[in-house]
Amino acid sequence: MVAAENRFDVVVAGGGPAGLSAALAIAAAGLTVAVVDPLADPARDRRTSALMVASVRMLRRLGVWSDCAAEAAPLERLRIIDDTGRLVRAPSVEFAASEIGEAAFGWNIHNRVLVATLRRRIGEMPSAHLIVATVTGIELDADGAVVRLADGSRLAAALVVAADGRRSLCRRAAGIAVDEWSYDQAALVTDLEHERPHCGVSTEFHGCNGPFTLVPLPGDRSSLVWVDRPRAVETFAALSPEGLAGEIERRSHRLLGRVRAAARCATYRLSGLNARRYAARRVALVGEAAHVIPPIGAQGLNLGLRDAAMIAEIVADAFEAGRDIGGEEVCTAYDAARRIDIVSRAGAVDLLNRTLLSDFVPLQALRAAGLRVLSGIGPIRRLIVREGIAPTHGLPRIMRPADGDGMTAGSLPYAAVE
Ligand SMILES: Cc1cc2nc3c(=O)[nH]c(=O)nc-3n(C[C@H](O)[C@H](O)[C@H](O)COP(=O)(O)OP(=O)(O)OC[C@H]3O[C@@H](n4cnc5c(N)ncnc54)[C@H](O)[C@@H]3O)c2cc1C
Repeated sequence: MVAAENRFDVVVAGGGPAGLSAALAIAAAGLTVAVVDPLADPARDRRTSALMVASVRMLRRLGVWSDCAAEAAPLERLRIIDDTGRLVRAPSVEFAASEIGEAAFGWNIHNRVLVATLRRRIGEMPSAHLIVATVTGIELDADGAVVRLADGSRLAAALVVAADGRRSLCRRAAGIAVDEWSYDQAALVTDLEHERPHCGVSTEFHGCNGPFTLVPLPGDRSSLVWVDRPRAVETFAALSPEGLAGEIERRSHRLLGRVRAAARCATYRLSGLNARRYAARRVALVGEAAHVIPPIGAQGLNLGLRDAAMIAEIVADAFEAGRDIGGEEVCTAYDAARRIDIVSRAGAVDLLNRTLLSDFVPLQALRAAGLRVLSGIGPIRRLIVREGIAPTHGLPRIMRPADGDGMTAGSLPYAAVE
């Protein structure tokens, strides 16, 4: 028997950015929610995330963005430069957010800032609880779910949101299979200070072993995501900050002048994962528990936030209608609502990455042709840019533009937080 104070409508396993956002959106809908995470120091994550307009809109409406804005830099222009040196080269392409009627495509922010702010905001919500613990197992049946914690305590809920990352224990407990693959690539991540201003432009150099991407941060600073062969990444990571800065200047053709690399960098092996179902047996997967994609085109966490927003919306609707919020109907609706977005974006990122790595000339030609279409002007370019970078189709309600940028409580299934 689970004590009354340990009963919630929803338990979220995992307090990374996707899980915390899901918990906030669910609490904002008026349900009780507990987030369980061992709460490691967020500063251990050296990555930044380029969050697209719809993601920021959600965070603003959840009362999170006002505390993030000063530490985020707008991405006003995106530039792709073919640096493969191959015979079949793609034209350089540059997009301006103004082409699709936006001031910025998105904002770049350190994950540590975002996670710390989300944790603080959870603490302010009366119906949300942050529990410092590790989930060790879950029991699932027709009546509900029981989540077991490492200290022996148990939490009961109608739905478990599994946001416990790529090795998700909850996903396994729900019996959800995954497809997994790896790439012969790794990413080096570091922060830079530079001599010349970035002018709000994010630049992606496409090399033969993956992209080298400079993403603006506030001031004359940028974050770097450098994808290359694992051996090369290991070599660069072992350099002194001065040695690494020299390599970065060479690789970026001194686009930002002299650079100074942060004292520490981080490296990640690239892999992919896709769950065969996004929800089953009272467990809904969000973020990297559902999908892992290479860090190309800044899609990963944006997808994770759309998962978070969508599960909150479907659960809120079921709650309003007096239906079982962890039942088969909710699981099926969530799976259907997320499938096209996840599969199409993961597929596009995988294809782009493989066309870069491939020595197969027709594949290189395909990439060049695609970028040639994008380098033109007109409705096709605008459509691809809008749906690729700032999608509107199938967005959860909390991410949709409202009148101006304001939001009315009536436009959401639940009371606005802001
Ligand atoms: C180099 C790089 C650059 C990237 N850049 C971008 C970008 O610009 N834009 C973008 O959108 N995405 C980007 N991404 C992707 C993005 O970083 C990830 O999608 C995101 O961090 C995943 O968040 P998450 O909450 O799903 O998972 P995680 O951050 O992995 O969180 C999982 C949480 O679950 C907890 N947990 C695990 N097991 C348990 C358990 N048993 N019990 C309790 N808690 C548990 C962990 O403690 C952790 O807090 C990038 C990725 C990489 C590698």
